[in-house]
Amino acid sequence: MLPGSGLEALAQSKLYSNQFDLNEVLLLEGPMQEGRDLNIEVLLQYDVDRLLAPFRIQAGLEPKSDPYANWAGLDGHVGEHYLSAMAMNYAATGNADCKSRMNYIIAELDTIQQANAVNNPSWGVGYLGGMPGSEILWTNLKIGDLTTYKQTWAPWYNLHKMYAGLRNAWLYADDNLAKKLFLNYCDLGIMIIADLDAAQMEKMLDEEHVGMNEVYADAFEISKDPKYLEAAKRFSHKRLLNPLAEVEDVLYNMHANTQVPKFMGFARIAELSGTEKYEDASEFFWETVVENRTLAFGGNSRREHFPSKASSIDYVNVIDGPETCNSYNMLKLTEDLFRLDPQAKYAEYYERTLFNHIRSSQHPEHGGYVYFTSARPRHYRVYSAPNEAMCCCVSTVMENYDKYNQFIYTHSDNALYVNLFVASEVNWSEKGVTLKQTTDFPEEEQTKLEITKGEASFDLKLHFPSWAREGFYSTLNLLQMTC
Ligand SMILES: [Zn+2]
Repeated sequence: MLPGSGLEALAQSKLYSNQFDLNEVLLLEGPMQEGRDLNIEVLLQYDVDRLLAPFRIQAGLEPKSDPYANWAGLDGHVGEHYLSAMAMNYAATGNADCKSRMNYIIAELDTIQQANAVNNPSWGVGYLGGMPGSEILWTNLKIGDLTTYKQTWAPWYNLHKMYAGLRNAWLYADDNLAKKLFLNYCDLGIMIIADLDAAQMEKMLDEEHVGMNEVYADAFEISKDPKYLEAAKRFSHKRLLNPLAEVEDVLYNMHANTQVPKFMGFARIAELSGTEKYEDASEFFWETVVENRTLAFGGNSRREHFPSKASSIDYVNVIDGPETCNSYNMLKLTEDLFRLDPQAKYAEYYERTLFNHIRSSQHPEHGGYVYFTSARPRHYRVYSAPNEAMCCCVSTVMENYDKYNQFIYTHSDNALYVNLFVASEVNWSEKGVTLKQTTDFPEEEQTKLEITKGEASFDLKLHFPSWAREGFYSTLNLLQMTC
């Protein structure tokens, strides 16, 4: 346990075998610590009862406050990411306000899930959604009528965020009530799709559904119940899986962020089931997005879509450049692929995107969030204001700064990987050692690693960045030793 974290070992490493728990990696003074602390200040300005109001309304309960007005139709999506952000910030810092807010949200969700079971028994047992018209939407979809589903704004996209929020509250903060609510919610999803045939599933999955396959893969790993792995495969969009597994690029003009999370799910299914097809698809997707569709600062897409080669000139003409959600999900996919095969190219992309796109999507003074980062010359960024802007990137980006410490270090049984140059300290409890990294990167092109506590034998795998000049290598060689 690190000083100030207030937490013992977390569930995190139970799902992601190569990760250190957030509370085992301490951010030290530097731009990442500043960004995280500013983000906590911003997050604590949001009104939790307003975030939860849509869920109470759909469950037939009286809301405790008015819902937020922005992005009407996608009601609830911010509250769901907010739960993830509270859990991660609590895990990373031990912040008591984040913990009490997380606990309050989960207790409210418990009440809401129970109310849905009583008030909506034919379609809502386990339900935790806030979108207007939930009853007709899910009742119709359950019997194979997709009319309302197709007329509604990305239903599974909306719901997925709560699946992820509950998983994260368990994963990062060991909250067992959240785990119970999560598995109940997974059972609801299985009940909704139980009678849909393969063609109906494909039609359903044509709409944005984020990482529904990923959360079901996680439910399988949490519970070991194969029904969740089967659901993960059913939620896998074959229109993308099949061609990409055959190295066929069909991404031109597709909505970018609709696609990225599908491949996170494919990577997780491959990891848990050993299915090569899913791994091939996720690797090729990553390759073609990073090599062919990513700008220098790590972002991709314009007007939310992957341009064709011919229309890539749009990047310098249109104001809606790369979307922050895409990079958030690409980093998550990168973590998944690195776990399957820890190659330097993944750390390379992660570094580029984290420092250039993610870090810059937060206003350095008031902490507002960015939707589009325009690549158009002389254009500018637009930042959100707390309690007002409720776009997709506001909700996603809430989580970005809370897990800066997630990929700095990873490990295998006997190797410690130093993937990023960030001032920090990692406590590798299995080995009984603490390693401290001192750096002012990117302001300086050097870092210092020292074992500050304990003694152990392990391999140190240090990311050797492509930007490092000749001459750095001899210094780095000294550090690539068995400690
Ligand atoms: Zn977005």
